Amino acid sequence: MELLKRTWAEIDLDAVASNLENYKSRLPAGVELMCVVKAACYGHSDLAICPMLQELGVRWYAVSNAEEALRLRELGITGDILILGSTPPEAAGELADHDIIQAVTDEAHAIALDEALSGKKLRCHAAIDTGMTRIGLRGTPEEAAERLKRISELESIKLEGIFTHYAVADSSDSSDRDYTAEQTRRFFAVRDAAKAAGITLEQCHCLNSAGGLYYPDPRSTLARLGIVLYGLYPDKATPLPFEPEPVMTLKSTISMIKRIEAGESVSYGRTFTADHPMTVATVTCGYADGYPRALSNKGWVLLHGQRAPIIGRVCMDQFMIDISGITGVVPFETVTLMGADGSEVLTADDLAALTGTIGYEIVCGITSRVPRVAYRSGERIGVFRV
Ligand SMILES: *Cc1c(COP(=O)(O)O)cnc(C)c1O
Repeated sequence: MELLKRTWAEIDLDAVASNLENYKSRLPAGVELMCVVKAACYGHSDLAICPMLQELGVRWYAVSNAEEALRLRELGITGDILILGSTPPEAAGELADHDIIQAVTDEAHAIALDEALSGKKLRCHAAIDTGMTRIGLRGTPEEAAERLKRISELESIKLEGIFTHYAVADSSDSSDRDYTAEQTRRFFAVRDAAKAAGITLEQCHCLNSAGGLYYPDPRSTLARLGIVLYGLYPDKATPLPFEPEPVMTLKSTISMIKRIEAGESVSYGRTFTADHPMTVATVTCGYADGYPRALSNKGWVLLHGQRAPIIGRVCMDQFMIDISGITGVVPFETVTLMGADGSEVLTADDLAALTGTIGYEIVCGITSRVPRVAYRSGERIGVFRV
């Protein structure tokens, strides 16, 4: 069975291409694009998306870990792949064999990698902690440069670049803007101190999606485009210079329709009781698909271009909706859980707002049980698993 129409996600590759183009056209000359494709392209399927990115000429890719990097190589991605997080020393040799670039989290990490490599050369970008306080070299620019010098002298470490990560580039708050400016100042001070110490750095990059749009610093050799590639906002409260097109649509099916009487309760915990007779439909999706249980009695789905509210608790594999106001609904019809239906639109950012999280977590949270059906120029190109 190629596709069981229980719950599935449609992946719009044309939207990916359009977000990429819109973003790229706003970058300063000389800043190259690095597509952040970690976590299976934020849950959208790297298998569906990365081959197209390569076809569109993207040379730089960023992932979270060694498994994701090797998976891209298996997929035939020949460009430069940077692992943004730590890799344990025992996996370093395999990375070197596949020409993967590893982030160095601190000097001790570099030393451990070097020892494990026994002479094999591993390309590295050193992380610089300028205020994210997650990974990276710390200290004054001069201290960081001294560490970079020692790292660059390790036999197996080929130090090709440095990078830093912004904590609040997506915020328009003025103290957050100052914080980002200070992170940028520190980062380029480290770069300058490293140059003064005689270190050659081919790549120095500080921009994430938000950074590239709100702080397009031409000194950053790369812009690491993540969330906006998938059509979502870094922060829904901060407008973007263009409207990104959401890439994922989440759909499910109605399994059963019934009338219930006033006084009947719906689902676990009896958190919803009908106060009048109503028409209820059951939808074949639940929290095991990554559909948030926090949408219980809060969210809605789209059907016949209208909103149908969720009633009662979302179960593991099913939930119920009130379709009293919608005529002509039949079993096995498709409902839209995330996406557009007529003039109604429901994005991952909207679901995030309803459940107190961010769009990133909604799309990354759609589980492997949900097949990703990819479309390009209106044609289905395949069904993928993440
Ligand atoms: C995830 C990540 C990005 C991409 O962030 P977006 O907000 O999705 O653009 C960039 N750089 C690093 C280091 C990351 O971890």
